[in-house]
Order: sequence, then C-alpha cells, then structure tokens
Amino acid sequence: MASDAIFIHHNGSSGYKFGEEHPFDPLRITLTVDLLKEVNALTDEQIEDPSSYTEEELLSLVHRTDYLTAVKQLSEDVNSDDSSVLAQQFGLHTEDTPYFAGMHQAALTIVSGSVAAADAVMTGRAQHAYHIAGGLHHAFPDRASGFCVYNDAAVAIKHIRQAYGAKVLYIDTDVHHGDGVQWVFYDDPNVCTYSIHETGKFLFPGTGYVHEKGVDHGFGACFNMPLEPYTEDDSWLESFNVTLRKVIAAFQPDVIISQHGCDAHAYDPLSHIHCSMKIYAEIPAILHELAHQYTNGRWVALGGGGYDIFRVVPRAWSLVWLTMTGHPLAKAIAKGEEAMLPDRWLSRWSSMSPHQLPLKWMDDPTDIEPMPRRTEITNKNRAMQHIVIQDL
Ligand SMILES: [Zn+2]
Repeated sequence: MASDAIFIHHNGSSGYKFGEEHPFDPLRITLTVDLLKEVNALTDEQIEDPSSYTEEELLSLVHRTDYLTAVKQLSEDVNSDDSSVLAQQFGLHTEDTPYFAGMHQAALTIVSGSVAAADAVMTGRAQHAYHIAGGLHHAFPDRASGFCVYNDAAVAIKHIRQAYGAKVLYIDTDVHHGDGVQWVFYDDPNVCTYSIHETGKFLFPGTGYVHEKGVDHGFGACFNMPLEPYTEDDSWLESFNVTLRKVIAAFQPDVIISQHGCDAHAYDPLSHIHCSMKIYAEIPAILHELAHQYTNGRWVALGGGGYDIFRVVPRAWSLVWLTMTGHPLAKAIAKGEEAMLPDRWLSRWSSMSPHQLPLKWMDDPTDIEPMPRRTEITNKNRAMQHIVIQDL
C-alpha cells in the first residue's frame, strides 16, 4: 500500500550556499528537520535520500546547454578572469546570485530531490511528497536569477509531462512572483501556473501582473494574484481562497505541485507583506483538501524563499509536513489550541538567533502590529480578485 507522505531530503542540498552574509541560508533546512524530529513527526527512516537520482540530461528539459556548461565551468573555476565574463553572460555575477564552488552539484542535488518527489507521487508510491530544499522558482532556462541557479520545480513539471502526461497545477505562495516557472510553461495548456505574491510594482522580480495569462495554446492557463504591500492574514487568505478554488475547478489538474516560500510573513526582511503564521497553517490545509478533492491526493510540495530563518521558516515549513501527514499537532493548531514549541529545540538554537525565538507554533495577535490602511488594502485586493477570475 502506498504510504501517505514521503519526506525527501539530501544533506548535499546544504552545499547550495552563496556565502556567509547571503540571506539564502541552508541552515533553515537543518532548523526545520530538527524541529520536526523534536516533535516526533519525522524519523531518520522516513527521510528518503535522492542523491544522484537525476541524470544531467533531465536538466536540459528546461535549461539551455550553453547555460549548463557555464554553470559547471563556474563551479570548478571560480577565480579566473574568464569566469567573471562567463558569469556576467549567465546572470551569475550579481550580488543576489553569485557563482560559487560546487554550485552545479548542489543545484543538481536540489533538482534530484524535486524530481524524486514527483516520481514518488506519480508512480503512486505515496500520495504526497515534500522536498523542502526545492522551489527555486526564479531560475530561467538560460540564466540564474533571484538566488536560483536551476529551476527544480520546472524540471520536475517537465519530467511529469514527459514521463506521465499528467496535467499539472503549479501553485506558488512565495511572496515573490514565480516568474521562472511561469515563463517556461507560458504556452503550455497542460501546465497551469498560479502565483500569489506582493505586486511587482514594489518587489522583485517585477512581474506577475494580472494580465499575464499565457500565450498561444497556453492562454488562460496562467494566473497571477498580485497583492498590495502590507496585506494581512485575512485579506491574503481571502485572495487565495477566492481565486485558487476557481482556478482548480476550471483546470481540473491530475497533480498539484506547490511552492512554499514563507517570505510573506511580517518578520521577513525582504518583502512588505504583513502576514502571520496563520497563513502558513492554512495554506497546506487548503492544498491538502484540494489534492484529495481534485487529484486523488497527488500533491508534491517544495520549499522556496524565507529569510527569517529562525522565527519563521522552521515553523512554516514544519506545518506543511505536519498537515500533509495529518499529525495531531496540525489538527490541534487548526482547532485553535495553543501549541508550544519544544523546549529542547528552543534551547538548542536560541543563542544563534538574532531575535528572541517565538515560544508557540502560532503568532499571538499582539506579536505583529496591525496595519493602519487595512480596509483600503483589503478593498484593493478584493477588486484584483475579481479581475483574476473574471474569465472563469
Ligand atoms: Zn521569495
């Protein structure tokens, strides 16, 4: 019998690190796995290792050969003059996404995990699969962008299309627009991309407008729900529920791939959305429900952005797994019961955290300052919701 859920993780994904000062920090994966183990929601036996799962050929389903060659070369040859020219050509010279030694292997390991997660679900070995190191949604076929070198989500989706012919709904809840995935499938009617994010007027990558709807046969299989800066929980969740439920009912996917960037939290240093842990408890609950309603449970969840690595990411990413596995803790939280974080986890990590760690799974209403323009923001988001679903 298929197990309910598989957790895919390889320590090699921690080699995906741009430097000590860079906000994309693989320590957040360690913090999350450690938290899940501490609450007895994850054992070493449950963790599957996807090492060398993906052949390099799979990368060329999405990425251009000259780009792959450049990434490999820059992974090994990090100091020559040639490398800086090459890096500039392929988006690997920026402060955001600088090349580093071992970059190709680390990024390939992440792609392996997402493809392995897709296979686990598509073969029926598990209903759900979770790969927290994945979700590098900004990478383009021919260049790196926004901390992303290889687009593991796009490769996994291409692989699903090629190997199983299934219709894929990609759902991206990162605060940044899921641009890389959107553009790869912009003309594909069998891959529907949905992204909810802070409007590109104020935030990287500056795209994800409501009028981006796909081209050619793919027209109508691309949805964007841009949100006003300082959007809070209730308006975020209303925007998500109102639009996503219409999209999935219209598209009728065979499988859901979700990206769980958790950078829409008020504590996140890189964005201006003002949500709490409430949305990170509800997002997986909604996706879990929709997967059982529409796709026979087939659901692949990936990580993504998240730059408050101590206070936000471990709780948010753990909630995806707790919800996916129907863990009692997720059920208690859903009922509004107060749930404390384990003391041992808190004491292990508190000295490393630049901020005082929260003591509970959910934020208290007093933890996050309410926004003064709430009504105006809610109304603007509501008007946008209507535009997103007007053709459905
Ligand atoms: Zn992000």
